[in-house]
Amino acid sequence: MAKHKLSTLGVRAGIARSQFNEHAEALYLTSSFVFENAAQAAARFTGGDGGFVYSRFTNPTVSMFQDRLAALEGAEACVATASGMSAILATSMALLKAGDHVICSHAVFGATVQLYATILSRFGIETTFVSPTTTEAWQRAVRPNTKLLFVETPSNPLGEISDIAAIAAVAKKAGAVLAVDNALCTPALQRPLEFGADLVIHSATKYLDGQGRVLGGAVLGAKGPAMDAVFSFLRTAGPALSPFNAWVILKGMETLELRMLTQSERALELARWLEAHPKVTKVHYPGLASNPQYALAMRQQRSGGAIVSFEVSGGREAAWQVIDATKLISITGNLGDVKSTITHPATTTHGRITPEARAAAGITDGLVRVAVGLEAVEDLTADLARGLV
Ligand SMILES: *Cc1c(COP(=O)(O)O)cnc(C)c1O
Repeated sequence: MAKHKLSTLGVRAGIARSQFNEHAEALYLTSSFVFENAAQAAARFTGGDGGFVYSRFTNPTVSMFQDRLAALEGAEACVATASGMSAILATSMALLKAGDHVICSHAVFGATVQLYATILSRFGIETTFVSPTTTEAWQRAVRPNTKLLFVETPSNPLGEISDIAAIAAVAKKAGAVLAVDNALCTPALQRPLEFGADLVIHSATKYLDGQGRVLGGAVLGAKGPAMDAVFSFLRTAGPALSPFNAWVILKGMETLELRMLTQSERALELARWLEAHPKVTKVHYPGLASNPQYALAMRQQRSGGAIVSFEVSGGREAAWQVIDATKLISITGNLGDVKSTITHPATTTHGRITPEARAAAGITDGLVRVAVGLEAVEDLTADLARGLV
């Protein structure tokens, strides 16, 4: 399959048909698998014959999901997890031990910051948070015990782009692993392994499902000790992807490329409209030619992605006015859905951090984030125009 184009892989890769030769991917809702005899059971438990044993380890529907995502990312190995956060936890537990050091972008998903800053720190793993856009800061943060570099690009909500190849070079020199959270672009728009990342992390909850239905996640990389350790953690600790969720996401991946390209196109149109609007003071979208990181974004990504953030003058009050005037766009924290969503980061996703940290991260009170779905752009602009007065 590997020689096929992305659109083909999205609908075809990973299919494993049963003896019934069903056309659609089958859903295997079973916790365990039956053996022919005691000798086969013994062989399966030692991993000797590669067959299925128990769905905490592997399951045929989950394997189809893993194989399809691996094909899309151009990765040799994929381990599916129950959620994006459990993919990040599994990676950390697989690669790190007490006394190790992590360098993480300060502009990653909020729960990722919590995981490193407040949970893994209790187990003797120290994390330095650095700017996603300043590669020198990553180099300066390297210590002899640095084992993992973690970045998310583009960042959310500001769409800042990290130079994956440059950070990969820092990781390589330090003898550390670079993991890139690719949830916002998906392999339809960006394939971090091609730029030197060692591991790719996904929250499949977002664009891979694409329709806001289930939680899921994955870790991908080359076959070898790192991916073996991720699988070993998953198999032992158990944050496995449920076969039902895998099946839902498999169907989502069939339309991944179509959705990502269309949603990005609409996001760009919306960003241009916002840029020209007199009430909007700033638009954050890496697909706009006026964006200072446009060249880097276009080197790494096929398009700007589906998330557009913008600032209105008048602070929190003006931002809330825009949000409260919408009738179509959903006021919800999730993203990656075909239904457009709107949020006020300063009082929701970034509400628990100090005002100083928020200011440092560029999350102003007047900032509004829209995760653009598949509605017509005219309807989205009409919905936003109502509050931009
Ligand atoms: C949502 C998200 C996560 C966490 O994923 P869950 O599936 O909600 O656990 C991690 N990284 C990014 C970039 C996300 O958007």
